[in-house]
Amino acid sequence: MPEPSVTRKDERERQTSESRVGLGIDFHRLVEGRRLVIGGVEIPNTRGLAGHSDADVLIHAMCDSLLGAVGRGDIGTHFPDTDPRYRDISSLVLLEHVMRLLADDGWRVVNVDATVVAEEPKLTRHFAGMKAVLGGVLDLPSDRIGLKATTTEGMGAIGHGEGISAQCVCLIERALR
Ligand SMILES: [Zn+2]
Repeated sequence: MPEPSVTRKDERERQTSESRVGLGIDFHRLVEGRRLVIGGVEIPNTRGLAGHSDADVLIHAMCDSLLGAVGRGDIGTHFPDTDPRYRDISSLVLLEHVMRLLADDGWRVVNVDATVVAEEPKLTRHFAGMKAVLGGVLDLPSDRIGLKATTTEGMGAIGHGEGISAQCVCLIERALR
């Protein structure tokens, strides 16, 4: 076998920046007597998501995608749900913490793309508000924040309104010195 003319090490040495992708998925139950907070925005609804924090399913998926991109575990390892400090905490605080972890290692977010899976309520009209709030924490303009909503066409637990799920991918980048 001939030696490849460009080795992977050479390739890395030529690069001026490195990038990573990450994936996050989250689920929460819908229950009576809770506020519904998604993407940092409170949404009028008869039921809200159950959880130790404010149960913001979209931000949790986003945090997991960012932590996944740098191989730093998941939201549960950083913010255990047994820790009373995180009870009913705004998930925006958790996202800010994750962003600081990344920034400390020189990472910035290129873009995020997320889908919320919910039978109800309708979320589309709240996306502009969510982008404004999330963009402030992620330091991203609205065209680098993808937000979509879909249903399961009535199938399964989410289709029966038992809960809401979210998925998020991110791309992050840092300069190589
Ligand atoms: Zn969660």
